[in-house]
Amino acid sequence: MKIIRSIINLLLFDFLKGLAVTGRNFIKPAVTLQYPEQGTIPKSPRNRGALALREYPDTGEERCIACRLCEVTCPALAITIESQMRSDGTRRTTRFDIDTFLCIHCGLCQEACPVDSIVLTDLQNYTIKGRGDNIMDKEMLLNIGRAYESKIAQNRQDNEPYV
Ligand code: SF4
Ligand code: SF4
Repeated sequence: MKIIRSIINLLLFDFLKGLAVTGRNFIKPAVTLQYPEQGTIPKSPRNRGALALREYPDTGEERCIACRLCEVTCPALAITIESQMRSDGTRRTTRFDIDTFLCIHCGLCQEACPVDSIVLTDLQNYTIKGRGDNIMDKEMLLNIGRAYESKIAQNRQDNEPYV
């Protein structure tokens, strides 16, 4: 056995085998994309990107009722909420901050929310350019929700067969 192994080593058999694999893949079309020049990367409808706050489409009223369940559920302590009662007796947030440095995109806040307000969108290509930009405030979160409402609905529909 030792002699056979020595002959195999002498003939560089393993080396040539490896080289053949390299050669085969060298002429195949590349599976990688030059992001962002070559368009967007295909994403699962379950992709967990930036968080957003949603509004009711018919009234434009924010869904969030300031119950703070998301805040207490968040394992990373990324959510900070302050709230007050409105004149009509309903409670709404006066501050809703998410620290994107702390958020681990686990989705537990989304699971906890009783009114389907806080959701994870598939927005991934956002950048933080300066100190303090890591805090997404209520207006920013609502703006993402407005921009991604139809995409959120589409992703839920695409995911329907798997739930
Ligand atoms: S996705 Fe997870 S870590 Fe991020 S805010 Fe929600 S609960 Fe917290
Ligand atoms: S986003 Fe949902 S869970 Fe969080 S405070 Fe608002 S209603 Fe409650």
